[in-house]
Amino acid sequence: MDSLTDIERDAILLDDSDNVLTENLPPRLAASMPQGMDIRLGSGPRQQTTVAAPISCVGRGLHTGVPIHLTIRPASADHGIAFIRTDLPEASLIPARYDHVVDTRLSTVVGVDSRQRVATIEHLMAALNANGIDNALIEVSGPELPALDGSSAEYDFLLQCAGRVSLAIAKAPVEVLRRVRVEGADGAFAELRPARRGLSLSMTIDFPSAAIGRQSFALALNEIRFRDQLAACRTFVERADIEALQRVGLARGGSLNNAIVVDGEAVLNPGGLRHHDEFVRHKLLDAIGDLGLAGAPLQAEFVGYKSGHGLNNQLLRALFADRANWRVAGTTATSRVRVAA
Ligand SMILES: [Zn+2]
Repeated sequence: MDSLTDIERDAILLDDSDNVLTENLPPRLAASMPQGMDIRLGSGPRQQTTVAAPISCVGRGLHTGVPIHLTIRPASADHGIAFIRTDLPEASLIPARYDHVVDTRLSTVVGVDSRQRVATIEHLMAALNANGIDNALIEVSGPELPALDGSSAEYDFLLQCAGRVSLAIAKAPVEVLRRVRVEGADGAFAELRPARRGLSLSMTIDFPSAAIGRQSFALALNEIRFRDQLAACRTFVERADIEALQRVGLARGGSLNNAIVVDGEAVLNPGGLRHHDEFVRHKLLDAIGDLGLAGAPLQAEFVGYKSGHGLNNQLLRALFADRANWRVAGTTATSRVRVAA
């Protein structure tokens, strides 16, 4: 069986029909469709999902530098994504939602109080978002997630190994109805705009460091494009910044194994870059993780300029702060009132 050409694959992914299912496809295409290609398409409700089996990994945290155990467990419909700290007595569920974000300075941190917190969730959240996993309980044995290689590739691999199952209850995307914009320093902004289906994203960054400079990247999100174009793109840091962090006891686990380190024009990692524009691709990956905290798939176009975790979170807060900005996709004005009540 021949594999799909890129043109055939894009023709399916860009089809206007809602909820393209493998059983509706010509046999040659259906047989060669990558597993799970039948979800995340269209704009209507789809069955909720969770991982098919628990799966674990161990890796060092970027800031603490100690080994962190992480287990992703199946969860029931409407549970959502939630973390629990296995190292704390009487641990509470920490919902992976925008309104539980408590810090965005170095990474996206969710928490329910000053102790029950988990940092650096964004690369796992990006993989969960791209893989269409709506529900999971994530056990973590410390205050931050394993850094792994600084990208989403290993989380994406874990989710593929775990597999995905559909649950009996459907969930509709949150449809953005009008432009929502937040702005930060130096011209930075993040916007959500209405879109006919799915989540498409574009990002531009502009760094003084010659190794990074100005880069732009755009992508209509689906599992395959995420895996092929973004998942392996690593976080990055200026050499001076990581040295400053380490002087105050942070980034103890930071190394050339879990981040790109830039010094002026030079990339210090011996293996160089995975893509010439790996930096902006990683910023787009971060945005996919941060927008995964919406609590439902987004039907929207995201546009970011120098946008990071702080603006991405402010954007979701601005979206949900005004009921006129969004609706549950597929609902009418009448049912919208009922949902809002
Ligand atoms: Zn990141």
